[in-house]
Amino acid sequence: MSALFPTYAKWDVKATKGQGALLTDDQGKEYLDFIAGIAVCNLGHCHPKVNEALKNQVDRLWHVSNLFQLEGQEQVAKQLVEHSVGDYVFFCNSGAEANEAAIKLARKATGKHKMVSLTNSFHGRTLGSMSATGQDKVHQGFGPLLSEFTYAPLNDVEKLQAVITEETAAVFIEVIQGEGGVRLMSQDYADSLSLICKEKNVLLVIDEIQTGIGRTGKRFAYEHYNLSPDIITLAKGLGNGFPVGAMIGKAHLKSYFEAGSHGSTFGGNPLAMAAAGAVINEVFEDDFLLSVVNKGETFIQQLQTSLKDNTLVKEIRGLGLMIGIECHSEVAPFITACREKGLLILPAGPKVIRILPPLIVTNDQLRQATEIITEVMSEQLVTNGL
Ligand SMILES: *Cc1c(COP(=O)(O)O)cnc(C)c1O
Repeated sequence: MSALFPTYAKWDVKATKGQGALLTDDQGKEYLDFIAGIAVCNLGHCHPKVNEALKNQVDRLWHVSNLFQLEGQEQVAKQLVEHSVGDYVFFCNSGAEANEAAIKLARKATGKHKMVSLTNSFHGRTLGSMSATGQDKVHQGFGPLLSEFTYAPLNDVEKLQAVITEETAAVFIEVIQGEGGVRLMSQDYADSLSLICKEKNVLLVIDEIQTGIGRTGKRFAYEHYNLSPDIITLAKGLGNGFPVGAMIGKAHLKSYFEAGSHGSTFGGNPLAMAAAGAVINEVFEDDFLLSVVNKGETFIQQLQTSLKDNTLVKEIRGLGLMIGIECHSEVAPFITACREKGLLILPAGPKVIRILPPLIVTNDQLRQATEIITEVMSEQLVTNGL
């Protein structure tokens, strides 16, 4: 009997060791891990540079609080600012906390409290970030929500226009909806989003918690769309598995997060900064990002070619190594079958398979995954009598 609250529907797999894109369980079975801790271990398990940085820090200093000057924070903040359109950074410990900071900053800076986010979005599980999340199943039983959020469907400019009012402080948006089904923003929508936010004097908050840190082949996914967010939120891949979150904001917001206005005991602690610094050094290299673009294109093409005759498949889409296969039927059985054959992948909603390999994956491993997925999908065709 487990003493845990049953908040997660857990699989019957006990992971004991990870190395690169491979995961081993307590039975000695090896898996290709194309979940990567849900877009967290972007550099794969136990990356030597991240491990080394963390080991060095463990023996020097763990925690002193934000009362002190912290060299690691200054460095990582400088790196994030150099590589993004933002100017200042606030560190926290998770994605939800980063979005929570964004909600507070947007309210304070604008003096307004209404927000817009998208249907099917996912922004986290705290009261504020849950309210930003446009999915009923996440809200069930936890109401009343922060009533300030209004939802509009992705890629619908008219609806977006309609829900933004004089009282709107900010638009919260993922450029690719992750949990919502690997749904990409269209370039036209991105262009309009920029214009509308400027025209109506509304802050643009981009949630890069899943799409950031090289996942889509750019440092941040907004770069694909020429967007210039006022606020960017980060977590997942930033620490490669060490818990860390960050909110990056533009210079015009600086004075609203003055001393005493917001905080976090653990936020930006030396261990987290050691991990994040090492991650950024690796991932934000042009050659590394280019390899992600190339591998992503190769993988999508492979999948498209080998699944082109499979009538269960509706669409294969993605950017970099964030890939979705939308199916005509529920994907839960495919995911279980892939796991049995040694490939770990995720659902994103009932009918979308989400594939998030670590960015260090090899072309060989991508090919193996394509073979397993193709095999499983054709067996499922037979099972379904199609
Ligand atoms: C995972 C995720 C979050 C929440 O992050 P936590 O660290 O679980 O709080 C928020 N937004 C997006 C887009 C995510 O994918």
